[in-house]
Amino acid sequence: MRAPRVLLLGGSTEASSLARAIDTRRFDLTVSYAGRTRERTATPGTIRVGGFGGVAGLTRYLRDQRVDAVVDATHPFAAHMPHYAATACAAAGVPRVRLCRPAWTPDPGDEWIEVADLSAAAEVVDATGARRVFLTTGRQELEPFAHVCGAWFLVRAIEQPHRMPLASAHVVLARGPFDEADELALMQSHDIDMLVTKNSGGAAAAGKLSAARALGIRVVMVRRPLMPAGAIVAHIADALAWLDDVANAVHAPGYVRGV
Ligand code: NAP
Repeated sequence: MRAPRVLLLGGSTEASSLARAIDTRRFDLTVSYAGRTRERTATPGTIRVGGFGGVAGLTRYLRDQRVDAVVDATHPFAAHMPHYAATACAAAGVPRVRLCRPAWTPDPGDEWIEVADLSAAAEVVDATGARRVFLTTGRQELEPFAHVCGAWFLVRAIEQPHRMPLASAHVVLARGPFDEADELALMQSHDIDMLVTKNSGGAAAAGKLSAARALGIRVVMVRRPLMPAGAIVAHIADALAWLDDVANAVHAPGYVRGV
C-alpha cells in the first residue's frame, strides 16, 4: 500500500509536535517552513524551506508533488499562508485541515484591552500613558511602536532584532516556555506597568498573563487575524485522527488524487 503524501505547513510548536507524532512508515511526510528563523526544531520527514510563490505556486506544488493532504499548522498569527493554503487546496482538490491552538480568553481579574493589530496596540500604549511596557510581540514587529515617545520597552525575542526602531528599549533574548514565577519576577524587576502580547494561545506563553493578573498590570491583547473557513482542529490527536481518515480514503478502491 502506498503511503499517503502529506504536506505539513510548519511555523508553530504544534507543527513540530505533529511532525514527531506522525508515523513516517505510514505517511510520506514533507514539513515546509517559511525560513524566518535560523534555528529550527528537528523533525522527521522531508524538510523544505521557503515560500511556494503564492496561491499559484502552492497549487502547482500540490499537483506536481501529488500531495494527498495538507495540514496547515502555521502560527495562529500567520496572516497569509492559511488563506493561500485554503485556496490552493480547493483548486487542486486536496483535503486540508488547520491545526491551531485555542485563543486565550480573559479570566476574572484580568484587565485586557483587545485591539485588532499592532498599530492599534501602539496607539493604546501612547494614549494610556504607559511608562514601562513589556513587549512580547516578536523581533520583527517592533516598527509599529517606533512613534511611541513616552514609554520604555522591555522587548523579548528569540533572536536579536536586525535593527532597533524603538528609542528607549532593552532586549532580552529567550525562548519559551515561560512560567508564571519567572514572568512575575521579570516584570517586577523592570517595574512593568503594561504588557503587550498577541493572542497566540497555548500554555507555554500563558505565564505572562497570570503574572500580569497577579500584579494588576493591564494587558494589550492583539486579536488573531481571520482564518479561512474549513476543518479546524486544536489538538495533535485530532490532527492524527484526520490523517487516519485521509489514509483510509487513499487506500480505498477507486481513490483518485486531486483535480
Ligand atoms: P504569512 O504572512 O502567513 O506568510 C507569508 C509568506 O511566507 C507566505 O505567503 C508564504 O510565501 C511564506 N510561508 C509562510 N508559511 C510558510 C510555510 N510553512 N512554508 C512555506 N512558506 C511559508 O506568515 P508570517 O506571519 O510572515 O510568518 C512566517 C512564518 O513564521 C509562518 O510559517 C508562521 O507560521 C511562522 N510564525 C509566524 C508568527 C507570527 O506571529 N506571524 C509567529 C511565529 C511563527 P509564498 O506566498 O511565497 O508561498
